[in-house]
Amino acid sequence: MLLDGKVPGGPIAEKWERHRFELKLVNPANKRKFEIIVVGTGLGGGAAAATLAELGYNVKAFCFQDSPRRAHSIAAQGGINAAKNYPNDGDSIHRLFYDTVKGGDFRAREANVHRLAECSNLIIDHCVAQGIPFARDYGGLLANRSFGGAQVSRTFYARGQTGQQLLLGAYSSLCRQIASGKVQMYPRREMLDLVMVNGHAKGIVVRNLITGELESHAADAVVLATGGYGNVFFLSTNAMGSNVSANFAAYRKGALFANPCFTQIHPTCIPVHGTYQSKLTLMSESLRNDGRVWVPKNPGDKRPPHQIPESERDYYLERKYPSFGNLVPRDVASRNAKEQCDAGKGVGETNLAVYLDFADAIKRDGRDVIERKYGNLFAMYGKITADDPYTTPMMIYPAVHYTMGGMWVDYNLMSNIPGLFVLGEANFSDHGANRLGASALMQGLADGYFVLPYTIGGYLAGTAKANVSASDAPFKETQKSVQARVDKLLAIKGKRTVDDFHRQLGLILWDHCGMARNNEGMAKARTMIQDLRAEFWDNVLVPGGGKDFNQSLEKAGRVADFLEFGELMIVDALARQESCGGHFNEAYQTDENEAKRDDENFCHVAAWEYKGEGQDPEFHKEELKFENVKLTQRSYK
Ligand SMILES: Cc1cc2nc3c(=O)[nH]c(=O)nc-3n(C[C@H](O)[C@H](O)[C@H](O)COP(=O)(O)OP(=O)(O)OC[C@H]3O[C@@H](n4cnc5c(N)ncnc54)[C@H](O)[C@@H]3O)c2cc1C
Repeated sequence: MLLDGKVPGGPIAEKWERHRFELKLVNPANKRKFEIIVVGTGLGGGAAAATLAELGYNVKAFCFQDSPRRAHSIAAQGGINAAKNYPNDGDSIHRLFYDTVKGGDFRAREANVHRLAECSNLIIDHCVAQGIPFARDYGGLLANRSFGGAQVSRTFYARGQTGQQLLLGAYSSLCRQIASGKVQMYPRREMLDLVMVNGHAKGIVVRNLITGELESHAADAVVLATGGYGNVFFLSTNAMGSNVSANFAAYRKGALFANPCFTQIHPTCIPVHGTYQSKLTLMSESLRNDGRVWVPKNPGDKRPPHQIPESERDYYLERKYPSFGNLVPRDVASRNAKEQCDAGKGVGETNLAVYLDFADAIKRDGRDVIERKYGNLFAMYGKITADDPYTTPMMIYPAVHYTMGGMWVDYNLMSNIPGLFVLGEANFSDHGANRLGASALMQGLADGYFVLPYTIGGYLAGTAKANVSASDAPFKETQKSVQARVDKLLAIKGKRTVDDFHRQLGLILWDHCGMARNNEGMAKARTMIQDLRAEFWDNVLVPGGGKDFNQSLEKAGRVADFLEFGELMIVDALARQESCGGHFNEAYQTDENEAKRDDENFCHVAAWEYKGEGQDPEFHKEELKFENVKLTQRSYK
């Protein structure tokens, strides 16, 4: 099957405008006749639910936390990109588009990325109107800072809490619609399956996490905005609850999973410090505006940093990439940190860390200025490590952070299942093989505030309305199979905890499908995951019952899905015999150890179709065409 991304014709800068005109509209009086389910109330889902309700649709919104305010989006620190060009440093919509396509190593769909860059400016206006307290410069204009992969300053920020502030904005809009009765909010519900009626997505089955009851909900369309799956690695910077289960349920029902092996390893995280650690902490990329990354020039140099003179330090990013310096994209910075540590130059107790040093910036700008910009991040670092980053360099190491892969969607953000839309980190659409910093918030909000509200209307207006009810047979059957899986998990009564399986799966993936991959390791990892999955279904211990609040049961369901999904990641990584962005197969690298693409054979989106338990998934591809950006070997020198 050759996949059709349904990209509209015409010049790239006019496609979205034209498409919006050509999309069918639902008239205001008819909007109130439609019911839309939105699963996930982070930036993507929260923005979508509020906007759809404002338009007049009836929305049912779901999240597994006790409040939409706790969606993982709240953790985002550094900022959100937009092509406003306030600093007058040469930015434009076309430059943001170009940087994003290049940053993704030419594995994203051009038209989607251009639309994203167009919407970026609308987002800032919208959020300012909501009252988001973006940082401002002396004259009162919104301030900007730089992020990796760009030579302009286009990142808008609210100290190190940008995600929190943006989420409060989306949440306020959502609350207004909840109060007006247009959004029915269902917190503490976990979507466990998708319900299909005559080939269309028409509802979901959720578990009430407090009472354990299963519920069915019907609608005219279903929107998934359920976030990323970085937690498949167990240790990541993601919130502990982030999972792949809603996406995987859709995959089992026929939705294609695109580029599942495209994972982002963020270069600046607090290094792992113990076997029983459950979470890793990000140190925002914004810190690389002022922090300088270095290691000792001599392998095995164990002197404390202040005793190592300038002449014996290697500021390796500045040396290797003079144009971008410390602000090279994440995949490049991460691989370089690994390379230094592999060469014996790593620092700290484990030798798996490099320095991020603010001494020069503090000398240049003063401690007050640095504190104003990054105070909360420095405080967080200090609390976790008991070190003072104002006086001694931070120690950092790459960690799993974001997933570029996700559900395949067309230009309308609709999956190959009619009526199933996917937004935010849950879809694959805009970041190719590597996401640039500060562009996830931009994408989630563009999808939710500015894209879906148009495109879902096109689907609803162009599809005959089916009168479905949650008491129809497809809902009953789906609910029955969900109940059977819950019962099966509870009946195993084995000896190993869910976390124990999860930790082992994470290590397998980190070692063999992480920052660097090779064919032999991946083939071995596939068998290891299959064995681990077999043991899970025989020996997992899920204490408690199914009729009350049971977090072990919640986790067991998510880890069961991760155990299948982890294998899909390996299958995808093995099929892509090239290196690109975050997918670094050691067999394909340039003389300078950069990722070496094979555009002739792999300039496509790999989309996988579920074929049943124990069966290999079927491969489909969407060819990528680059008409506005020239395919080149990425260079940040
Ligand atoms: C530490 C950290 C810092 C970051 N900083 C930045 C930054 O500075 N700039 C930037 O652009 N990006 C940043 N990112 C990335 C960005 O935060 C995320 O990609 C983005 O917020 C994801 O938003 P989302 O709406 O797609 O998903 P999320 O915010 O993850 O929301 C997912 C929603 O889905 C719900 N959900 C999930 N599964 C189910 C289910 N089965 N049933 C019911 N509900 C479900 C959850 O309850 C939640 O409401 C950062 C990421 C991390 C980890």
